[in-house]
Amino acid sequence: MDKKSLIDELAQIVGVENVFHEPEDLITYQYDAYLSRAMPDFVVFPTTTEQVSKILKVASREKVPFVARGAGTGISGGAIPVKGGIVVALSRMNKILEIDFESRRARVQPGVINLDLSHAMKDKGFHYIPDPASQQSCTIGGNVAENAGGPHCLAYGVTTNHVLGLTVVLPNGEIIHTGGKALDYPGYDLTGLLVGSEGTLGIVTEIIVRIEHRPEAVKTLLASFSSMLDAAKTVSAIIASGTIPAALEMMDKPAIEAVEAFAHAGYPVEAAAVLLIELEGLKDGMDRLAKKIVEICQSHKAIEVKVAQNEQERMQLWKGRKCAAGAIGRICNKYYLHDCVVPRNKLVAVLSEIYQIAEKYQVQVANVFHAGDGNLHPLVPMDMSDRDQVERALRAGDEILKCCIQAGGTLSGEHGIGLEKNELMPLIFNEADLTAMKKVKAVFNPEDLCNPGKIFPTPGRCLEVTQRPR
Ligand SMILES: Cc1cc2nc3c(=O)[nH]c(=O)nc-3n(C[C@H](O)[C@H](O)[C@H](O)COP(=O)(O)OP(=O)(O)OC[C@H]3O[C@@H](n4cnc5c(N)ncnc54)[C@H](O)[C@@H]3O)c2cc1C
Repeated sequence: MDKKSLIDELAQIVGVENVFHEPEDLITYQYDAYLSRAMPDFVVFPTTTEQVSKILKVASREKVPFVARGAGTGISGGAIPVKGGIVVALSRMNKILEIDFESRRARVQPGVINLDLSHAMKDKGFHYIPDPASQQSCTIGGNVAENAGGPHCLAYGVTTNHVLGLTVVLPNGEIIHTGGKALDYPGYDLTGLLVGSEGTLGIVTEIIVRIEHRPEAVKTLLASFSSMLDAAKTVSAIIASGTIPAALEMMDKPAIEAVEAFAHAGYPVEAAAVLLIELEGLKDGMDRLAKKIVEICQSHKAIEVKVAQNEQERMQLWKGRKCAAGAIGRICNKYYLHDCVVPRNKLVAVLSEIYQIAEKYQVQVANVFHAGDGNLHPLVPMDMSDRDQVERALRAGDEILKCCIQAGGTLSGEHGIGLEKNELMPLIFNEADLTAMKKVKAVFNPEDLCNPGKIFPTPGRCLEVTQRPR
């Protein structure tokens, strides 16, 4: 089918105003928050499951590749249409369909912005827990595809622990339903399989999530340290004490300085590291719990421990953490945000190695991360017009990832593999592991039209070309 006929057919499904095909309209859809770019041929904006089904039937019949897109905040290149074709933009499927307080469930379309769901329930004292730092802009569909995490996932689990059911359009256009509002369903756990499948098994068009009552009491503390080592030891000591904070985040000096210059959150710029610790629970006992955590920090050489005295102070401390990437983005032309996980007891050793790697490649590095989970986010600022610097930043990134794996960690904590790390998958999976996963993919996506080029190594490419922006 020629391009014009395909545009006409897509326009019949979603309306002519909901099909983009001119280069100037497509430009925005060639990238996400990763470094690469690739132009789609079409962008379509469906509003219903049936429209998505019809679009995928056309794509499947015409053998046109397609990729789902939420807000495009993904950091591993998941929404980049590496083989062109159709971007199925879900931003207009943004309705909260039902909030069932009695069952503590919500049913949403995939384009609902993460934070909007919690805002919609705030008056009733409920919220949706997974809270990526990008929650003001990322979509719940994108969170499902990436199995997103966030500061409060330490105590409550990541997206997969909060998703109970899905409506999914398979690559051939068929519509399936997995799970539901009840607690457990017989048969294979397809919901579990689809969460974190990075948009390679189908397009999610409806999501049933758990919602939770907000805690009766919250205490937020900011502990500052004169060394990363003391801060990291404090993280282990808090967890070992038997208390799992709702959130336990760490930032190093470069990150503190960037944040303070931008957000004026009250972080001490003289500190080498800060821990942002949030405790949640019943009012009774909360002061005692906070005192215990303050004592642990002090016994690990905290220079100062601030306890937010009211909601305004609490929000100010969180503002610093949530805008950290933006604050660093303000002082450089681009940054490369890594995502890797190490066992918590390896935090200190791996962080020291990260600084050495940065020095070796003469790049800067700032660390802002979910310390309680051992989920590191080294952030390497760079100037995209300086090819040599970009190359050094990419090489440093390769080495950081390998160092995390050697420490017993893994390739990604929450951002996914996408096209950023697909060539590195053999570092953590053997041939049999990868073959088993590819067989699953082939059942859902036999022609590889649905988000091709993601997760798995591309035949003919090798580790040396890993992470080179394409
Ligand atoms: C500043 C910043 C901070 C971040 N902080 C965090 C964090 O704390 N935790 C975290 O986990 N991530 C974080 N991220 C990464 C990103 O926000 C998440 O991966 C998020 O889940 C992506 O959502 P999105 O709507 O932008 O998805 P997109 O980027 O549009 O897409 C991501 C992937 O999901 C697929 N997809 C999207 N919608 C669907 C759908 N309906 N059906 C099937 N597949 C779909 C796409 O094809 C793609 O593969 C951060 C990003 C930025 C820029």
